[in-house]
Amino acid sequence: MTQLSPLLKQATPVVASRGEGVYLYDDGGTRYLDFTAGIGVTSTGHCHPKVVAAAQQQVGTLIHGQYTTVMHRPLQQLTQRLSEVLPAGLDSVFFSNSGSEAAEAALRLARQATGRPNIVVFQGGFHGRTVAAASMTTSGTKFRAGFSPLMGGVVVSPFPNPSHYRRYGWDQDQATDFALRELDLLLNTQSAPADTAAFLVEPVLGEGGYVPGHERFFAGLRERADAHGILLIVDEVQTGFGRTGRFWGQDHFGLVPDIQMFAKGIASGFPISGIAASEQLMAKAWPGSQGGTYGANAVACAAALATLEVIAEEHLVENSQARGEQLRSRLREATQGYTQVAEVRGLGLMVGVEFINDDGTPGTALAAAVQQEAARRGLLLLTCGPWTEVVRFIPALVVSQQQVEDAAGIFSAAL
Ligand code: PLP
Repeated sequence: MTQLSPLLKQATPVVASRGEGVYLYDDGGTRYLDFTAGIGVTSTGHCHPKVVAAAQQQVGTLIHGQYTTVMHRPLQQLTQRLSEVLPAGLDSVFFSNSGSEAAEAALRLARQATGRPNIVVFQGGFHGRTVAAASMTTSGTKFRAGFSPLMGGVVVSPFPNPSHYRRYGWDQDQATDFALRELDLLLNTQSAPADTAAFLVEPVLGEGGYVPGHERFFAGLRERADAHGILLIVDEVQTGFGRTGRFWGQDHFGLVPDIQMFAKGIASGFPISGIAASEQLMAKAWPGSQGGTYGANAVACAAALATLEVIAEEHLVENSQARGEQLRSRLREATQGYTQVAEVRGLGLMVGVEFINDDGTPGTALAAAVQQEAARRGLLLLTCGPWTEVVRFIPALVVSQQQVEDAAGIFSAAL
């Protein structure tokens, strides 16, 4: 009998048969408070009625138009709708199916547009699992080890992550100074500006441990990019569409990209992703160099349109901000006095609790134990961080005040 490959390692033993809002249900009717949201995808909750209706309507009209063959209405409408939420100037979009493909598209565009080979990435960044995306990923060796040689032309510079320099007692400012100094050194030693196509950065490290960036760091990237004709690619795959309590993660930092990646929260679970850039920049690539059979699927586009409508109508960006603050505050109360909890951090509904062992080493086993115990008690959580030492909370943006209280209560009991 065919079996699922052991490559698939599930975080919980739950077999989900139905989803509604912030809850998943198994066949036996057991209800789970889902604070994973399909890794930050089901932004409007599981099976939001408006998203379901839009997808059902589209399934009965046109499932697949194939965008290199014909245009279709949901794609036209989504493109138009995105212009209302994308930063001014990023007026040209191109669609694919996953975050990794968006990373590949951004990489290809940057190299084609500049004619330069190198991409500078930042320590702890995650950009996907295809070979090119994995080559630009530094959030854990499991994403890279064993299938080298990876793509060349990737250079790694520090991200201002104070938790990595805790033993030196560095604060955010010191970590930022260090990161910018190291970047200057790198541009003068390993990757001359004339060889550097782009900087690729997340506003908040996702898989890398839920670490928000810093305004001065991003301003420093922008400054250096402008000075040297280097493109700034911002990966909003996990941070976009209200996840961090602003529409884009970059909005917290006044960060303005040349190329922006998006995916996950855009379509409540349907696979669609993309990149946005100025028309002049996009024109430097050429037709046929990007795309694939399934890009901008009509049902996914219809679901994305409905998702954007729900995000606006139900004020989900504001809810993300308010519920995120509530969650961090409850988690700080719950973890007070636990020396093995190093930090509760995050922005909006992207919240992480970092565990640390008594000897200062990463608390990988503690994070896993708390995650497993929470699942046993009906709360689904994920882990992240280079040592999977962080328990992360990433519920749907529709999560209510009571559901946040319930989750914090279960976490506290699990702890
Ligand atoms: N970029 C970021 C910031 C992500 O968080 C992810 C996935 O978690 C990706 C890219 C890759 O997306 P996908 O898994 O859809 O390929």
